[in-house]
Amino acid sequence: MATLMQQFLEDGKQKRLNENKMLPLIEQIYSGYLTEDSWRKKESFAPSGLVYGSGACARRWYLSFTGTLHESKATPLNVANMSQGTASHERIQKAMRNSGVAKDIERPVRHSDPPIFGFADAIILWNGTLYVGEIKTTSQTAWEYRKKTGRAADYHLAQILMYMYILEIPNGVLIYESKDTQELHAIEVEMDDAGRELVERILDWCRRVYQAYKDGKVPERSFRKDSKVCKSCPVEKACLENSEPTTIKFERLDIKR
Ligand code: SF4
Repeated sequence: MATLMQQFLEDGKQKRLNENKMLPLIEQIYSGYLTEDSWRKKESFAPSGLVYGSGACARRWYLSFTGTLHESKATPLNVANMSQGTASHERIQKAMRNSGVAKDIERPVRHSDPPIFGFADAIILWNGTLYVGEIKTTSQTAWEYRKKTGRAADYHLAQILMYMYILEIPNGVLIYESKDTQELHAIEVEMDDAGRELVERILDWCRRVYQAYKDGKVPERSFRKDSKVCKSCPVEKACLENSEPTTIKFERLDIKR
């Protein structure tokens, strides 16, 4: 069998492709990942959207509830990465079913006041205890950090705690998968006083934001125009173009326990 060094020498003899000439081909393939902007009107808050980036901005939710253009800000590589994540979710969910631990997959999570809707990845029965299960895929470095410290990311914790609270299941488990090795690591989450207080704070913020939308009160911006959050906000254009006078100020949603 050829050693690695022999392989390098063999490769060196090959006629190299003109990479610059092929760059447009790659760009063309990437363009196949892109999705169109679309007009959307949201009816409810999504827990996964609330805990990250522009989810903390009341104005973003106001615009989504009134109905507006939602820009597709994802780059081709973002889209490829997300679809890789979706495929990993489905593979792990299938393994949960096949191994017998899943009681349910994609359990709807509904709350009426304030309106919240989402799906928990799984409901798991393990050693006689029911858990809400959430799958998260991460880089190997982040996965090793989670394993070493036993600490979950704040926004993952806030999301699973919302599901646990609404579904009235006091136990949860965050299942982290390394994108490089597919190894899994589980972090158990218990609904304690701090967790309950966090979810109630989030619900209270959502209730006030939803009431403002119903009253036609336009929230002020929560982030600066040139911030990273606004640059990746799906309603950035609508936010900039909206000329309604702002009539209410909201603090940013705080998802830290
Ligand atoms: S662009 Fe920025 S300020 Fe405007 S809605 Fe989005 S996050 Fe809020």
